[in-house]
Amino acid sequence: MSFKITDECINCGACQPECPNEAIYPSGEDFEFNGKTNPALSQDFSYIVPEKCTECVGFHDEPMCASVCPTDACVKDKEESKDTLLARAKALHPDKSF
Ligand code: SF4
Repeated sequence: MSFKITDECINCGACQPECPNEAIYPSGEDFEFNGKTNPALSQDFSYIVPEKCTECVGFHDEPMCASVCPTDACVKDKEESKDTLLARAKALHPDKSF
């Protein structure tokens, strides 16, 4: 769990296509993880699936969702080590070398 979207979100959708992990979903939309469909984590705002967020490690120098958000609604939720984030990125992208 690295980044989250707060109630500052205006559901503009700018962040969703920027995420390298497809971790961001529109409000009310079910999300996919490990081949399973799960119920939406928010009915009101775009949301980030914690298990799929890597703070963009291995893809970008900064968290892209926070970078493009016009209302600063994408914020760090929990401190995680670079090793943890990198391990998650590898698990999410087994065919990519980091
Ligand atoms: Fe996706 Fe990066 Fe935002 Fe995490 S920090 S949700 S990986 S765009």
